[in-house]
Amino acid sequence: MRLWIKEPLAVLAEEAGGGVVVEGSRIVELVPAGGQPATAVDEVFDAGRHVVIPGLINAHHHFFQTLTRAHPSAINKELFPWLTSLYPVWARNMTPDAFRVATRLALTELLMSGCTCVSDHQYLFPEGLEDAMDVQAEEASALGVRMVLTRGSMNVSDAEGGLSPASLTQDEETILADSERVLKRYHSGEDGAMLQVALAPCAPFTVSKRLMVDSAGLAETHDCRLHTHLGETEDENEYCLAHFECRPLDYLEECGWLTDRVWLAHGIHFNPDEVSRLGRHGVGICHCPTSNMTLASGQCLTRDLEAAGSPVGLGVDGSASNDNSNLMESVRHALMINRLTYDAASVTDRDAFRWATAGSARCLGRSDIGAIEVGKQADLALYTLDELRFSGAGDPIAALVLCGAHRADRVMVAGTWRVEDGQPVGVDVARLREDHGRAAAAFAATV
Ligand SMILES: [Zn+2]
Repeated sequence: MRLWIKEPLAVLAEEAGGGVVVEGSRIVELVPAGGQPATAVDEVFDAGRHVVIPGLINAHHHFFQTLTRAHPSAINKELFPWLTSLYPVWARNMTPDAFRVATRLALTELLMSGCTCVSDHQYLFPEGLEDAMDVQAEEASALGVRMVLTRGSMNVSDAEGGLSPASLTQDEETILADSERVLKRYHSGEDGAMLQVALAPCAPFTVSKRLMVDSAGLAETHDCRLHTHLGETEDENEYCLAHFECRPLDYLEECGWLTDRVWLAHGIHFNPDEVSRLGRHGVGICHCPTSNMTLASGQCLTRDLEAAGSPVGLGVDGSASNDNSNLMESVRHALMINRLTYDAASVTDRDAFRWATAGSARCLGRSDIGAIEVGKQADLALYTLDELRFSGAGDPIAALVLCGAHRADRVMVAGTWRVEDGQPVGVDVARLREDHGRAAAAFAATV
């Protein structure tokens, strides 16, 4: 079956003005402007109203946090007090049913924004939620979204000098055993993989050094990616100096994490020497502009990191510090905050798109997604410019960012349409909203 996505209004790819031909799960041909596909096609989708871009890739998130958006205990706080306000709320209310509906909602929201591949840093394993990674695998598969199951962990509680209540932590043995189980069950290194696994101890202030070291060893054995939060706040710098007598990046190096297997969430508070070290070792950074602005965490030095050699990707971050799961909105925020950090000429809409596509793909260690090229997976997001906000726009691709696109009209993952006419295929959106709202009500009532 060959499908020609014909003559788009605009396309974010070289020499593809005449459209894209998809066969099976892959892009098999780019048609130059005014041209015809070289081989006969079975089906034609007229994209004359559509701007076509590579499917967006979300390199950092916490789906469960959709249950505590704009939570009264946490709004108007920075990261550490924000976390210590929310941990007890999560600990008291996170049931398996609530977790499942939160996962489904976040995945659906991301998909509708044009996101085709997601990584969710799932570090919450209270009693009863031991199968959290299986729930995520089931929900991603049902929706048809590509996913990197990022098995998080916390093993240092507040009583032991960390920030989290003991009921949200697990012991190292349990964490490593489940990590291995999840790797064996879901990890695939194959081109076009729909599910992969990464290991992700949560942050320096919730995890022991031994768990960091052992997670790196397990990742090496199974050839999977490693992820954690690092360089998010000045509080973290102070915590590391107090507990480890070094800065966060030195601590990371001591744990054996300065490798190109690693991508870090946030990566804000690095000095110029640390930026060079990150780049030299090929450590990826997932920039999370919306969360960084909400929590007033600071500004990631994206261009310096890229210049030093680090892949830079984009993530929405948890839905309690965003407080939505719209990756296209974060593309816009990335453009804006980086223009404040740098200047207008050196940060363009194409840079922001690169972070959200090829940059995130590199963070996740994938070469099969993140661009519209022959041989890549057919992961595409198509937007119309029909809403009032786009009227009068000149450059259609820049307009998606500058006028604030929020919702894709069509989304394709691995050659299959998963959003049609703005609606996720097979999902009752009204019912999902109702179910999630009901689950979240218990969290809202807890302060
Ligand atoms: Zn995060």
